[in-house]
Amino acid sequence: MPLFRRDAARREATPLDGVDTVLADLDGVVYAGAGAIPYAVESLNRARSGARIGYITNNASRTDASVAAHLSELGLPTRPDEIVTSPQAAVRLLAERVAPGATILVVGGDGLIDELTKAGFAVTRSADDAPAAVVQGFAPEVDWKQLAEAAFALQTPEDEGGIPWIATNTDWTIPQSRGIAPGNGTLVSAVHTAVGRLATVAGKPETPIFEEAVARFDATSPLFLGDRLDTDIAGASRAGMRSVLVLTGIDRPKHVLAAPAGSRPDYILADLRGLFQPYPTVVTDGDRVTVGSSTVRVDGAHIVIERAGDQLDLLRAGARAIWDSGRAIFGFRVPEQLYADPFRSR
Ligand SMILES: [Mg+2]
Repeated sequence: MPLFRRDAARREATPLDGVDTVLADLDGVVYAGAGAIPYAVESLNRARSGARIGYITNNASRTDASVAAHLSELGLPTRPDEIVTSPQAAVRLLAERVAPGATILVVGGDGLIDELTKAGFAVTRSADDAPAAVVQGFAPEVDWKQLAEAAFALQTPEDEGGIPWIATNTDWTIPQSRGIAPGNGTLVSAVHTAVGRLATVAGKPETPIFEEAVARFDATSPLFLGDRLDTDIAGASRAGMRSVLVLTGIDRPKHVLAAPAGSRPDYILADLRGLFQPYPTVVTDGDRVTVGSSTVRVDGAHIVIERAGDQLDLLRAGARAIWDSGRAIFGFRVPEQLYADPFRSR
């Protein structure tokens, strides 16, 4: 019995240990296009037995109800109030800045109009209606006329009495089935170029969307799951949340190694099954970093693989060695094996 207890105490924790709320990004974490990412559905259903699950998306063109229906179809029974969208975060910001029921000029589509209406705001498409604020989110139907109305409404700088301008998110690109297309950041930038003002951003990597999620789920020990370092991981870090980077989406091992301070995940997983697996402790001995079966050493400008071990442990060890060196990755000679990418095909 004492032996059993000692073994149990020595067991390495899983990323889910102590977590009361799992907050997951969607694209690249749960689904890619219409289809589910391998192991995502079963892992999130399993995680549900011990934690609340919420989903966070910067995508402003879909309503929470349509996202919930999509997830339910994929085998993740989900209610609309379990989806936190960037329009909801934008409404939260808006409520701090304008009077209840104020008229808001909308650049965007149904996802945004739905949230503004639910929150009791009146919606207009014209700068001539003396809007109290401009809210801008992506929708495929956003055109020059909508951008121009926003510009007309935002002629006066905010510190000279101009109205607030809130962007749901500033993702530069939006992946489409036919390729990469301009995202909301590009369209916000078009208005910025015309008026010389900067929008306040609600979505990742800014904190309002994370604050909305924490409030909604009453989270005290949340864990964020994301596939992008610059939005998911940076945002979670700013919001003071632990984070998982899962290698099923956008960012690849070479991006992990090069991640700047502030965009470094607490856990690196190949897929979401890793949430339930003991996460190997990082052991640092001088310039040598060991994670599980892999050991990497910093030797001047060289990153030396002493023991390759498992490819995922190797990436974890290499990342820690580079991150903890306090030096930029460009100063190192990094062996290709360190950023091999067998994870994409899983
Ligand atoms: Mg994503």
